[in-house]
Amino acid sequence: MNPAALDVPAPAADNVTPEPRQLTNQDRCDACGAQAYVEVNIASSTLDENFKRKEVPLLFCAHHYNKHEPRLVMSSAVRGISVDEREAFWERERNRTRGYE
Ligand SMILES: [Zn+2]
Repeated sequence: MNPAALDVPAPAADNVTPEPRQLTNQDRCDACGAQAYVEVNIASSTLDENFKRKEVPLLFCAHHYNKHEPRLVMSSAVRGISVDEREAFWERERNRTRGYE
């Protein structure tokens, strides 16, 4: 028996939870190009190799997410919200406008 055949690499750990995705200021709203704070997964019309619908991310700024939220939550194409950082947006707005009130 060839001992090298036993020298298989350890299987990759599959119980590691991936880091939650964080949006950066490189992520821009698909509607207006402002900084994105919400990422929504939408089922696309294309299928993957398992004939499942591919999911494509749509990015929204806080303004456009709030504007489209009523329709998004009703839509069967929406597979989930993967990132919602609007709290960080409101926190930034509160800090930005502090002193003007
Ligand atoms: Zn926008």
